[in-house]
Amino acid sequence: MRMILVGPPGVGKGTQAALLEQRTGAKPLSSGVIFRSEIEAETDLGQLAKSYIDRGELVPNGITIQMMVKRLRAPEIRAKGFVLDGFPRTVRQAEALDEELAKEDIRLHRVASLEVSDEVVVARLGGRIGCTKCGEIYHQVTKPPKREGLCDKCNSPLFVRKDDQPETIRERLRVFHEQTAPVVDYYEASGLLKRINGDQPTETVYSEIVAGLTG
Ligand code: AMP
Repeated sequence: MRMILVGPPGVGKGTQAALLEQRTGAKPLSSGVIFRSEIEAETDLGQLAKSYIDRGELVPNGITIQMMVKRLRAPEIRAKGFVLDGFPRTVRQAEALDEELAKEDIRLHRVASLEVSDEVVVARLGGRIGCTKCGEIYHQVTKPPKREGLCDKCNSPLFVRKDDQPETIRERLRVFHEQTAPVVDYYEASGLLKRINGDQPTETVYSEIVAGLTG
């Protein structure tokens, strides 16, 4: 299965990508997760990306496209399929992805657009905490970890992302409306898009994504 999850920050793309992997085997490819691991490993790419990410801006297309194309060519992704999360985020990235898939004669099955209001995004990201090691996501109010500050799954420390601070959240939302909303129109025009209300329980959103794969 090969699909894309589009939506504003905090809508639950990462959570849905993890569920899709558990149940279909398709591998999640999250540009944000990849950037954060490059930053953690202090690579040149990580250092370059960090200044943009900390401000809530997009990392330039050229850098992002090159990084994602490399991952898409990995044998495991070829064999198991993918769930793209956070990429493409601009029309230029969507065009580059189309070019790459066409070159390899690979067909995309679906694009799910998870949609919520800006108020919901602000409320969700405001309390978000994540695991430094396995990437599991918690929320101070709606999904607190069993032991404060520690991951239920792997016991590693939890952290608040620097770009989940209120001013940066507002900037990320502005960037989403300006640069990523046109990506939804792009896929609507190609007939691949399924719009889903992201302000519903995780399992409901999941069922609608899966229904959209066949419907
Ligand atoms: P995310 O974890 O998807 O919210 O991404 C965190 C940050 O990484 C974004 O706010 C951007 O600065 C950067 N980023 C992630 N994906 C992309 C992308 N496809 N294009 C440009 N920047 C990106």
